Amino acid sequence: MGKYHGQANSVLRPRTTEQVSEIVKYCAHRRIGIVPQGGNTGLVGGSISLQKEIVLSLGAMNNVRSFDPVSGILVADAGCILQSLSDYIAPHNHIMPLDLGAKGSCQIGGNISTNAGGLRLLRYGSLHGTVLGLEVVLPDGTILDQLSTLRKDNTGYDLKQLFIGGEGTLGIVTGVSILTPPAPQATNNIFLALPRFDNVLPLFQIVKRQLGEIMSAFEYIDRTAYDMGLTHGLGPLLDAEEVGDSECFILVETSGGNNEHDLEKLNHLLEHLLTADQPLINTGTLSQSPSQFNAIWAMREGLTECCQKEGKPYKYDVSVPLADFQKVVDAVRERMISKGLYGDHAISKVMGYGHVGDGNLHLNVIAKHGYRPELEAALEPFIYEVVASRKGSVSAEHGIGSMKTHALHYSKSDVSIEWMRKVKQVFDPLNIMNPGKVLP
Ligand SMILES: Cc1cc2nc3c(=O)[nH]c(=O)nc-3n(C[C@H](O)[C@H](O)[C@H](O)COP(=O)(O)OP(=O)(O)OC[C@H]3O[C@@H](n4cnc5c(N)ncnc54)[C@H](O)[C@@H]3O)c2cc1C
Repeated sequence: MGKYHGQANSVLRPRTTEQVSEIVKYCAHRRIGIVPQGGNTGLVGGSISLQKEIVLSLGAMNNVRSFDPVSGILVADAGCILQSLSDYIAPHNHIMPLDLGAKGSCQIGGNISTNAGGLRLLRYGSLHGTVLGLEVVLPDGTILDQLSTLRKDNTGYDLKQLFIGGEGTLGIVTGVSILTPPAPQATNNIFLALPRFDNVLPLFQIVKRQLGEIMSAFEYIDRTAYDMGLTHGLGPLLDAEEVGDSECFILVETSGGNNEHDLEKLNHLLEHLLTADQPLINTGTLSQSPSQFNAIWAMREGLTECCQKEGKPYKYDVSVPLADFQKVVDAVRERMISKGLYGDHAISKVMGYGHVGDGNLHLNVIAKHGYRPELEAALEPFIYEVVASRKGSVSAEHGIGSMKTHALHYSKSDVSIEWMRKVKQVFDPLNIMNPGKVLP
């Protein structure tokens, strides 16, 4: 994003857990701050050095330690790139339980430290469930070996959960044991244009009912985002005339065991939607080939990059009740209009897309000519207040990093923050582990 500028003057690239431990012991002794860094794809400034802390990059720790094709349990170094792990297990007909647009660069250790959600959460659940064990170097250099490969282990406090989403503030994840599901035998997708946002929820209900267990994604794209995608070469996926003035779009993916059966269900669904007395959709398409399947996904996954091409994006990744998705986007646009900050001279686009199935909205606000303090002042804390008023979360999946420390209180009570501080104090009394992140 070009939003954060690191201050580090040293980057260390250890190859083994023991080397990480030696580095941390050295730093603890001299009270040198450490910023763990994975693929550096995080969107909240968590992996940058704010005050000349050293950067500890995990990129050289990239070996698969073991994979059991029967149980699907993968044990790997934290620096393995998500896509490489997917490629590694693909010949065994397994897939990673998470998938995100940054998969070619982000690392599994970074995914765990941000509790990344992504495109498969609806189907396979969060990393709090799929991660079976972790190896972590604690802030005094001790190696905490909890690299369990057990599905069940109810022996007291489950410490690994604290590092999932810990954003490197409690220790450095060096090894990961994760449960990978069998690859579905058949994946298909459809792309639908909806006349009104109000149709999204009834559609979600129908799709869930008709597709049942084979539905694996239900993604939302508003009209502004779709048009932006078209401008930058994504699609076209649908006939422009049939799309008309549709307000939003939905991508539905299925993953099942029998292609014929899944296609039958999808065709039936499309027919039902198009022929209903009061159709919820204007038009829709079912992918007919792997390249069409990929083109539909490219529209959704390519939006983050398109935002970059439009200008400088302010990115807000929030959880709000499904019914409020577009209301939040509209409220922000109206706010910028009322402040005289909407248009090519300031904020050129306000758009929403995201994981409807998980209640997670990616709100993107494009500053055509770059970040400016008065733009940020108009956006924050306004957006956080809107989200809090709807009992949402100011960070659905990207974390708090350095961007949202001041906004943590919108989603966490004083008591929660106090206990988070106590946990931090127990693990990292010297405050050397990613200082200035997460806690205000
Ligand atoms: C195009 C694009 C699409 C994206 N889509 C999604 C999405 O759908 N869902 C989603 O959740 N995120 C998404 N993201 C955000 C980002 O990719 C995730 O947060 C990802 O999990 C970060 O992984 P990373 O290896 O790049 O970590 P980094 O950015 O390097 O670090 C992120 C945080 O984790 C800490 N950290 C990294 N590695 C370790 C470690 N080994 N031990 C301890 N702490 C560590 C860092 O200190 C930092 O606080 C997207 C980003 C982009 C650019």
